[in-house]
Amino acid sequence: MNNLTQAARDVLSERQHQTEQEGWTPERDDRHIIGEVVMSFYRETPIKATRKTHDCSWCPEPIDMGQPAAYRAYVIDGSFQADHMHPECLDAMHRSLKVFPDDTFDPNSQKRGVSYDEYGDPFIAGEALEGGK
Ligand SMILES: [Zn+2]
Repeated sequence: MNNLTQAARDVLSERQHQTEQEGWTPERDDRHIIGEVVMSFYRETPIKATRKTHDCSWCPEPIDMGQPAAYRAYVIDGSFQADHMHPECLDAMHRSLKVFPDDTFDPNSQKRGVSYDEYGDPFIAGEALEGGK
């Protein structure tokens, strides 16, 4: 503890208070951070043609070299993150967040260009799809 700054000690002390007296869980912390930090820095940049192949953070399909993509940069859990998405996957994510703003998604596990409602049911631009997720 001697190497810690006073500020770091204060953070640890507050953290101990939260977990022991107020019952905070890591899950709650994540929601807290997503609500305040991600929204405080989040930027999307369209790319006309990627210079190399990228993983799409929405779907399992790769974004091939030379294809259009969206580059996302954001801060989560105090650290800078960046990823790429197919343009239609970015649209799908926005549609999903519109109907279920607090949702989070697992990377690479949605269908390309498909949105999901609060029940996890897929839809495209307002039309429900058959067959579930
Ligand atoms: Zn995609």
